[in-house]
Amino acid sequence: MTDRIPTPPSVLSRLRYDPQADIDRARHDPDGFWLDEARSYEWTREPTTGLTWNRPEHGWFADGETNITLNALDRHARGEARTRAALIWLSETEEPQVLTYGMLHERVQRAAAGLRALGVGVGDRVVIYMPLTPEGCIAMLACARIGAVHSVVYAGLGVSALRDRITDAGARVVVTADVGHRRGKLVDLYAIAAEAVADLPQVEHLVLWERIKTFSREHDVRTVAWESLFTHGRAPAVPVPAEHPLFVLYTSGSTGKPKGVVHAHGGYMVGVAYHLKALFDVHPGDIFLCTSDIGWVVGHSYIVYGPLVAGATVLFREGAPDFPDPGVLWRTIERYGVDVLFTAPTALRLFMKLGEEVLKPYDLSSLRVIACAGEPLNPEAWRWAQEHVGGGLGEEAHGIVIDNWWQTELGAPTLGTHPRWPARPGYAGRPLAGVEADVVDEAGNSLPDGTQGQLVIRRPFPSMLRGLHGNPEKYASLWNANPAGYLSGDLAVRDEHGYFSILGRADDVLSVAGHRIGSADVEDALVSHPAVAEAAVIGIPDELKGESIVAHVILRAGHEDSPGLCASITEHVRRELGPIAAPGAVHVVPSLPKTRSGKIMRRLLRAQALGQDPGDLTTLEG
Ligand code: ATP
Ligand code: MG
Repeated sequence: MTDRIPTPPSVLSRLRYDPQADIDRARHDPDGFWLDEARSYEWTREPTTGLTWNRPEHGWFADGETNITLNALDRHARGEARTRAALIWLSETEEPQVLTYGMLHERVQRAAAGLRALGVGVGDRVVIYMPLTPEGCIAMLACARIGAVHSVVYAGLGVSALRDRITDAGARVVVTADVGHRRGKLVDLYAIAAEAVADLPQVEHLVLWERIKTFSREHDVRTVAWESLFTHGRAPAVPVPAEHPLFVLYTSGSTGKPKGVVHAHGGYMVGVAYHLKALFDVHPGDIFLCTSDIGWVVGHSYIVYGPLVAGATVLFREGAPDFPDPGVLWRTIERYGVDVLFTAPTALRLFMKLGEEVLKPYDLSSLRVIACAGEPLNPEAWRWAQEHVGGGLGEEAHGIVIDNWWQTELGAPTLGTHPRWPARPGYAGRPLAGVEADVVDEAGNSLPDGTQGQLVIRRPFPSMLRGLHGNPEKYASLWNANPAGYLSGDLAVRDEHGYFSILGRADDVLSVAGHRIGSADVEDALVSHPAVAEAAVIGIPDELKGESIVAHVILRAGHEDSPGLCASITEHVRRELGPIAAPGAVHVVPSLPKTRSGKIMRRLLRAQALGQDPGDLTTLEG
């Protein structure tokens, strides 16, 4: 049985882009398709080659030369977009700041000249430990402009996480701020940064953006004022080969120690900007609200590079999505007439838990696409969001909730449900243009529809990673562990319409009485119980069954923990999925261990249950 839900006609009529022709062309002529996309941008030397591939090494547009900031800034600042808003930023107390393309271009040119004056050159790594602010974006773009490689560390991570990344990246310059704002409190970022670099003599400069000028304290002798960067004139964009590294970004660390993923100027630029228009349907003049952070890949691709390369307007805010009050996100959408929202399942489940009353006072009818990525989007969360954020499925619907699957390693959406395509809740969607994805067994054989297996990418596409910083063996293993292609590490199953459902991480798969059960399936069933807002399951060894399922659940507002409730939850899963998948235990918990990027860290629950060493916890939410 496949219940596919067509996009309501009232939403279809608001959409502007149809990617079907791209998908058909890319299937037969991927190089031609991507080269044509690439040629719509500005190059100092236009590329003539598409993919070059010598597994595991690969590249795109290898004979081309550009700089991503030429396309993200100069191209727009010279034309009619000069006075268009590039960034609209809101402080945690909802004070706005707007930077037009002209203004952003000027700020980035000066910051780039300042970094150059500090001795930062082509290929040098710069660690950016900044709150989610325009200054954080400017720091990233300034590095890119002079061919330096930025490595943004999320400003919620602590001393050892920051120190590890500075060391691993071999950075000589660190850019930070005095404070970040979180839930009305000040986070002393400078103290963390100064402690992280205290024993790292290779760090030559600690650039400090002071937001609160009255804060007096001892400064590390290497400290340089952010403002002083802006006194060295303007730096032009340094043309670099398409394959020149743009950034190193560490993964979320859900399944183990974070990996330093390397992306390159040319392919990344073409890939991220393509999906902004083709999947999210964002076009110049639209207001695009992204709730991620520059510390994560979604923030790199869809706060900074994708929207700017495309000439769109991105809206983002510092702080938590439910502070100063739970209405703030929805109020922002109404105030700015947001066209497209990009958020994460964990945020939708937070509002499910709080209840839809929070959204009711606000007019969300400007929204036409509500895109969601980062974790499995449970069918119940999809339905809730479609009803309360998208306006339902009837004639009154104004927007559609769409799932999309990708990874830090992939740079941009890879599988997705285009807003024109029918939704199948619980399924992330189909391979997007230029993506050859498959479900295979360990030997690399393609598996029939309906059979679960490893999710692989058979052929590189432009926004894929070019390496793992300092770890070529691990990088090679991503391509060599399975003969079929790049191994995502996720398990999936495909339906007869070509839609893929992500069953969870291969590491999180449950094995009960000889059956392999994806963690996502059981969690979907749990969240479909009326009392459950969020769930995480793990397997613990069981003499009889191999593994027994232990469920951890967070209740929705208005429900109380009781033995009767736990029994009803167990019974509900038994009915939905069969007795094999019924949890042996259900624990009601106030919160679940998550990475700072909002992903459930099942390996920690498992380690706690088994009394084992949990491994690297530097990205755990504190
Ligand atoms: P690490 O690789 O260090 O364990 P991570 O995999 O959590 O960290 P990310 O690159 O941020 O780091 O996350 C990518 C993963 O998130 C995917 O491999 C997948 O498991 C999950 N994911 C992302 N989007 C979706 C989605 N739409 N549906 C289901 N899972 C998703
Ligand atoms: Mg991963």
